[in-house]
Amino acid sequence: MLERFIGAYLFQPAAFDYSSDTCRNGCAYCFANINQAERSGNLQGAIKKFYKQEITTYDDLLLRDGYPICISNRSDPFTPRNWRDTVALCQHLVNIPNGVYLQTKCGPGMDEALDILGDKRPVVYITVTTIRDDIAAVIEPGAPPPSERLRIAKDLHRRGYLVLIAVNPCAEQWMPPGDLEAPCDDLKASDIRHIVIEMLDMSKQRLKVLTQSRIARMGAALDDCRTGRVQMYVRECVQYLIKSGMIVCKKGMPFRSSFFDDIKSRLGKTMPTHQDFVNYCFDRKKSGPVTFDEFDQVIRGGRGGVFDVSIKGSAIRDYLLRAGFISWKANQRVPTHRDLLRIVWNDPRHRISIQKHCLFRLTDQKDPEGNAVLWFDGKADLGQKKEVIRL
Ligand code: SF4
Repeated sequence: MLERFIGAYLFQPAAFDYSSDTCRNGCAYCFANINQAERSGNLQGAIKKFYKQEITTYDDLLLRDGYPICISNRSDPFTPRNWRDTVALCQHLVNIPNGVYLQTKCGPGMDEALDILGDKRPVVYITVTTIRDDIAAVIEPGAPPPSERLRIAKDLHRRGYLVLIAVNPCAEQWMPPGDLEAPCDDLKASDIRHIVIEMLDMSKQRLKVLTQSRIARMGAALDDCRTGRVQMYVRECVQYLIKSGMIVCKKGMPFRSSFFDDIKSRLGKTMPTHQDFVNYCFDRKKSGPVTFDEFDQVIRGGRGGVFDVSIKGSAIRDYLLRAGFISWKANQRVPTHRDLLRIVWNDPRHRISIQKHCLFRLTDQKDPEGNAVLWFDGKADLGQKKEVIRL
């Protein structure tokens, strides 16, 4: 199904996700299958949207403006069940201006899809949660072994594709420090430098609905989710990767990164990310207050199109839905992206709030329009309760 990627607003360069039928790779940690056991792709519906002439919805505008499409966030595009649909989809993707962001563990049909896309070179995100084929056989039994994925990654990089290696989800039991160092050196030797890393995220809610089989296969990694060790471990990994010269992407990390600039240079238009604003703040080379106008300028500035217009209905407000129900309910009208960003800036309750980012702290000041003034000094505040800065 082709859907707006609303759950990834300000974190993902793609504006849309096309996910096919339920993926049968059987990964123990698969959030998509844990949340919803059966899904279907609706290939025809997606293709119809690509060619729709009349622009009637916000999604139509985003598509026409050329924002990228991720394939796929909730289903691997190259499983035996899905690859034919992916190849069919690619035959139409070549006809539209939108960039393609392939997210996969590799599999049948991948070469064919890349051939069809030709010069419209997708960015290729390849998941490697472990380098050990025996561990992968337990936690990702249907996917090609990681040794094969790494071989494909290097081959694609040699052929000029921008390849992102995703240690996602990351758990110490699957990717211990020594195992992270080995592929890191290997990837660097091949000049692959882009790494995505995110922790294994099993919320209390998700833990409650896990089957015994998933619990057994994830084993001690789940204990680290319960104790919070998994979060600490990923922080250590991020520091190691950056020190090693990798270009890292991690939600909310307190570092500058050219990760998204490199994607943008390949895909053309991309969605804005919090990292854009973090980079801006580091580049100012001064500590001090930061304002909503600066945030708005960095996130929306120069994008034009859908980012400058007022949209009827609740399309823009929808970006709040998966980020925090309370904020979504409290803000009945969000007609423009500036309005949405104002909520992201001022309201700390939802997941995409910039106030949740460890680099930004609230001050006791407001700007003339009543927006919070935040504080940035390049230092991460990882405490549960951040101090309010008195100006
Ligand atoms: S490959 Fe991705 S979509 Fe498929 S089961 Fe694994 S995590 Fe889920």
